[in-house]
Amino acid sequence: MTTRRLFIQIVPVSAAGLLAACSDKAPPPAAAAPPVAAPAPIAAPAPAAAPATPVAAGPMLDEKDPTAAALGYVADASRVDKVKYTKFADGQACSNCVLYQGAAGSEAGLCPLFSGKQVAAKGWCASYAKKPT
Ligand code: SF4
Repeated sequence: MTTRRLFIQIVPVSAAGLLAACSDKAPPPAAAAPPVAAPAPIAAPAPAAAPATPVAAGPMLDEKDPTAAALGYVADASRVDKVKYTKFADGQACSNCVLYQGAAGSEAGLCPLFSGKQVAAKGWCASYAKKPT
């Protein structure tokens, strides 16, 4: 009995499909698809704005800083203890030391020995090493 019921349900559906397929009528036009909007052009990222004021390079190194004191750092090379630091020679200064990171002509710049702190261009410490010319 189940087979007969199944047959009765399937035949009308199949016949309708078969008739539609054999019909010489043109199929109804498919609903026009809505126009696809062109994707918006991807905008180039805006260049990073330059800071209004230069970023501070860091605080000035204090001569009393324990590391500075241990290395005999002075903010003015004319005050170097020449008795204690016999390798000091006139003309030596942070500005012509290989470790000095300040720009040419700057008054101060970073030194990797004193992380995040600036040393005076006219300064000096016992780790001085002449910048190659
Ligand atoms: Fe100055 Fe060079 Fe000493 Fe740094 S290492 S404090 S730049 S003399």
